[in-house]
Amino acid sequence: MSSTREPSFRQSVDLMFNRAAKLMDMSPGLEEKIRVCNSTYTVRFGVRLRGQIKTFTGYRSVHSEHMEPVKGGIRFAMSVNQDEVEALAALMTYKCALVETPFGGSKGGLCIDPREWEEHELELITRRFAYELIKRDLINPAQNVPAPDMGTGEREMAWIVDQYKRMNTTDINGAACVTGKPLNSGGIQGRVEATGRGVQYALEEFFRHPEDMAIAGLSGTLEGKRVIVQGLGNVGYHAAKFLSEESGCKIIGVIERDGAIMDDNGLNIEELKAHVTAQNGVKGYRGRFVENGAAVLEEDCDILIPAAMEAVINLDNAERIKTKLLIEAANGPVTAGADDILRDKGVVIIPDMYANAGGVTVSYFEWVKNLSHIRFGRMQRRQEESRHMLLVEELERLSADRGLKWEIDPKFKTRYLKGAGELELVRSGLDDTMRAAYQAMREVWHSRNDVTDLRTAAYLVSIGRVAASYRSKGL
Ligand code: GLU
Repeated sequence: MSSTREPSFRQSVDLMFNRAAKLMDMSPGLEEKIRVCNSTYTVRFGVRLRGQIKTFTGYRSVHSEHMEPVKGGIRFAMSVNQDEVEALAALMTYKCALVETPFGGSKGGLCIDPREWEEHELELITRRFAYELIKRDLINPAQNVPAPDMGTGEREMAWIVDQYKRMNTTDINGAACVTGKPLNSGGIQGRVEATGRGVQYALEEFFRHPEDMAIAGLSGTLEGKRVIVQGLGNVGYHAAKFLSEESGCKIIGVIERDGAIMDDNGLNIEELKAHVTAQNGVKGYRGRFVENGAAVLEEDCDILIPAAMEAVINLDNAERIKTKLLIEAANGPVTAGADDILRDKGVVIIPDMYANAGGVTVSYFEWVKNLSHIRFGRMQRRQEESRHMLLVEELERLSADRGLKWEIDPKFKTRYLKGAGELELVRSGLDDTMRAAYQAMREVWHSRNDVTDLRTAAYLVSIGRVAASYRSKGL
């Protein structure tokens, strides 16, 4: 954890915002309007559990309503407080603007340790929290659409959507009140993996630009790059899995709650995940166990992926970080002070508002699916396949007619003939989004002498878009 010399999480986000805003031609009034959080609602509610009334505290913060609905996850963790949800809500505003999902920024949290409660108890608590937010339109398909975050997942989203539907029986768009739902409650394929998948697409895009790699002191491709991941939760697990199984990276270290496990030959993420689930930690898995997990953030590697929580790289350890490239899969893992230090050291940081935007991007697809009441690809898939079939058959006929001995490779044929279903379309839309947003950031990074890092570039792009939206409203 960061030391007391550091500003709070919200102040840290504001400092980063200010750094970029200084480089923009914006009135101080508009700058202030964009920076501040519009509102934060605190709810305290009681639930009868284990023979007693237990009181819980939850928040839903709305940072910017320049576009509605506002969007952002709901976190269940003991660290939840007003400062944290406000910082996270602000990051949602900038994230949505950067990846062009048509939402304002919001975030919610419940101060609870979900591991302390049985499933049926958690359901009661979640439904009651949702009830408090729904009746204030803080959960609503047109106004405020939550999603999973730390400590929540598909299960909680299913309870929330059901709660909304019970309270709004005639709302035909009720399913769109929350995203990250299971498929059978109106979810979309590829949402669970989306944030981790987005991290993979972001890195693949970074490695398409030799100029950018050179700034980090890297070259070549992702193949063989040595990666350390902090957190094997939904985001870290999927990022590590795809990077090692598909992109050829070597995951040489994984940091979890109980410590870290290291293996220079590369860890098998599927196996390690199964071990963590069964044993509640990485200890005992083959490799070198390091009790003080946080120390592994400081090990030499090519790519460091903090995918757990905020402020893990701070004034206390920033100086000792050895990675060349750091990609912020978590929200706010690097404090403003650490950001200055790492920048001076020449570490390239792919910032959170871009790096972990895969989640909200696929949430956007889910929301659109819910509002259109039809699965992506349902109309086109077979039509696409039959047109491809026409071409393949015609080629085969031509080659037979002319006595040519052409043979279409059966593997190519299978791949070419397969029409895109929902999962393929979601991945394609996500890949396109991650490429476009990276290109918008790098354009600014390389075209302005006063911009020396990707975070400032990201802020410039997103603040610019939010400002344009406020201006066109006449503010
Ligand atoms: N909680 C995720 C985030 O921080 C997802 C938000 C969403 O899908 O609305 O980006």
